[in-house]
Amino acid sequence: MTTDIQKFLKKIEAENVKFIRLQFTDIQGLPKNVSIPAIQAEKALTDGIWFDGSSIEGFARIEESDMLLKPDLATYAVLPWRPGEGKVARFICDIQTYGNKPFEGDPRNVLRRTIAEAAKMGFTFNTGPELEFFLFRMIDGVPTTEFEDRGAYFDLAPTDAAEDVRRDVVLALSDMGFEIEASHHEVADSQHEIDFKYGDVLTTADRVITFKFAAKSIALQYGMHASFMAKPIAGINGSGMHTHGSLSKNGKNAFYDPNAELQLSDTAMYYIGGLLKHAKAITRVANPTINSYKRLVPGYEAPCYISWSAANRSALIRVPAARGNSTRAELRSPDPMCNPYLTFACMLAAGLDGVKNKIMPPDMTNSNIYHMDAKLRKKLRIDMLPGSLAESNAALLRDDVLCDTLGVHVVDNLSRIAEMETDAFRLTVHPWELDRYLATY
Ligand code: GLU
Ligand code: MG
Ligand code: MG
Repeated sequence: MTTDIQKFLKKIEAENVKFIRLQFTDIQGLPKNVSIPAIQAEKALTDGIWFDGSSIEGFARIEESDMLLKPDLATYAVLPWRPGEGKVARFICDIQTYGNKPFEGDPRNVLRRTIAEAAKMGFTFNTGPELEFFLFRMIDGVPTTEFEDRGAYFDLAPTDAAEDVRRDVVLALSDMGFEIEASHHEVADSQHEIDFKYGDVLTTADRVITFKFAAKSIALQYGMHASFMAKPIAGINGSGMHTHGSLSKNGKNAFYDPNAELQLSDTAMYYIGGLLKHAKAITRVANPTINSYKRLVPGYEAPCYISWSAANRSALIRVPAARGNSTRAELRSPDPMCNPYLTFACMLAAGLDGVKNKIMPPDMTNSNIYHMDAKLRKKLRIDMLPGSLAESNAALLRDDVLCDTLGVHVVDNLSRIAEMETDAFRLTVHPWELDRYLATY
């Protein structure tokens, strides 16, 4: 047993932890876990725990279903919303197959592989995701779309329990090692945002998952449902997960160049160029459901055109005003339904492709693209993001760089899921169609 493992076993005992959750993420970004009593910790930390991978979406085939959960010691955290007596802690795990081989379909492994590619070029990647979500009322234990409050952007104290939920989420995440920067009411009724400090990409991807299940668990204690669905209600803003990204080299922000135009280095420009080039394929993972595409429409602060800008929030990529160590580019398309490991891996791979191939972005677009007509957009060569899951999946299949990044196993499963979802949606007759056609035809 290594001294590190011994240290954790002591910690588990000293903190009176009784249960340990071994957590990982399926291909769709849904958290999964198995709970073991603390007495099994030594075995789990030393050898890992075997599980049936064929029961997890997008994992193993039935004939090779045994998989090993290997806890990542750096991810230990006590779950603050669980009872103080008989505490529960968790480890996020990497997944291995026979012979301790990393499983190629493990989203965390996809990200690790891409981080290693970046390291070969001397880069580390930092991300800062901004998660938006709704707090909805539960009625008889079932989530509804009834608002919990009627607040708007930055409103103070919507006079109900929603701000207590936000406060408790902030406190719980802080206990788990997050540095929370701000929390506020978002634009739509009952919509909220909590921002945490950017960090290395693996840690922030882990944090996205932790954030969502912390918010859901705490909301539930108040009889509410925290929903990260991209567009739960038509006609008002949806929820985004804008992701700020920057590359560093030798511990220094590689996007900042005090002498360059806009003080953006060549690396920053190529990163933006790479993201724009691969934008359609990235959409498959950043916007992974049928519903995601109902958010990517004009008029609700979500992007639908492939462009970049220093200010304008209708663009896909925005470069915030801060410079120096804070120089970064914000990708505004991801929504919080996405698998953060796959999304960040694709962002990083697209950015690195930009750097490798010196892909310069086209001129930036500083006016509001929502107000441009199709002719002007064509003249400015502003293309559109895919309008559906089927379209974005086709774009992914055409994109060799991102297919290589995700690997055959993940791409095959993403395609299968996209087809399955598209068919299921098509086989349903929706209320809109009845309203529109039943009486008229
Ligand atoms: N809710 C908007 C979206 O769907 C973003 C609002 C904002 O700029 O924070 O992306
Ligand atoms: Mg926001
Ligand atoms: Mg933002």
